[in-house]
Amino acid sequence: MSIHDFERYDLTFGPSPIHRLPRLSEHLGGAQIWAKREDCNSGLAFGGNKTRKLEYIVPDILASGADTLVSIGGYQSNHTRQVAALAAHLGLKARLVQERWVDWDDPGNDRVGNIELSRIMGADVRLDPDDGFDIGIRSSWEDAMAEVEAAGGKPYPIPAGASEHRLGGLGFANWAYEVAAQEQQSGVFFDTIVVCTVTGSTQAGMIAGFAALQDAGARPRKIIGIDGSATLEKTIDQVTRIANNTAELIGLGRAIRSDEVTILPGWEGPAYGIPDDSTVAAIKRLARLEGVITDPVYEGKSMAGLMDLVSDGRIGADSNVLYAHLGGQIALSAYPGIFD
Ligand SMILES: *Cc1c(COP(=O)(O)O)cnc(C)c1O
Repeated sequence: MSIHDFERYDLTFGPSPIHRLPRLSEHLGGAQIWAKREDCNSGLAFGGNKTRKLEYIVPDILASGADTLVSIGGYQSNHTRQVAALAAHLGLKARLVQERWVDWDDPGNDRVGNIELSRIMGADVRLDPDDGFDIGIRSSWEDAMAEVEAAGGKPYPIPAGASEHRLGGLGFANWAYEVAAQEQQSGVFFDTIVVCTVTGSTQAGMIAGFAALQDAGARPRKIIGIDGSATLEKTIDQVTRIANNTAELIGLGRAIRSDEVTILPGWEGPAYGIPDDSTVAAIKRLARLEGVITDPVYEGKSMAGLMDLVSDGRIGADSNVLYAHLGGQIALSAYPGIFD
């Protein structure tokens, strides 16, 4: 088996674009920095990394005969917004459990941004103010499944971030092959990849995909996850487990080594979904140098990590760094207070 044996249902525009960030690179005075843009990868409700994961899950959804997608996230979950868009696109219903994952009091947190888009797209959005952040399987989500069944529907479960789904790592295993093909065309090899990690299947898929390429003779490279969960040990375990599951699916033929899983703390802020000064400074700096927008939950944190690692030389000056921009800007309207 290899990644090419899995069916992929097209939800994206094609390979996501890669471009240089020349003013950021010059400002930091070290490595050359590029971005690969999952934040503009699809025409479905602004896309993002979950849309790429869902491309490999759709064939299973269609084969199941389900009529309702059931999923879960925080109030400002990008993932549930992308599930709502998928449901609309496929002509299915969506039942979304939105938990209070983030203790954030900007007015409108439960109305604007992602949750507003999910409602516009016709999803059945239910707020659960009692449950907090957890990247694992939740009881409130199992209850939602049971309710859909009790009402005569056929639910299809998609866990938080699509990460605990058996096929959840394939989208970004394929991303590795897409990067390799883009490198062939451009002649630029990215020795370092920087990616935000929370529920884990984005980085886990990359690890499995790049391991397969490397075992087939490609040059080694480093994948640096920047933790956005603030539950680091749990996240490392989850990424390792999903990377191994995905590696098995795509026929790697060996376990993932611990040196292939790098997730760095230091930029996660006080909690999941809460920015600190480094997050806000990174969002403003990237926006002012490049006109590229990031969010306070995910990409602002991974960009803060990238900026520090490049400017202090932990990523060397001779590196070509690929920043995986995974989306998430829709949540910005739920955080107006940080830019007042
Ligand atoms: C979900 C998400 C992430 C984290 O990806 P995981 O696969 O959950 O680790 C990062 N950035 C954005 C914008 C996201 O929506």
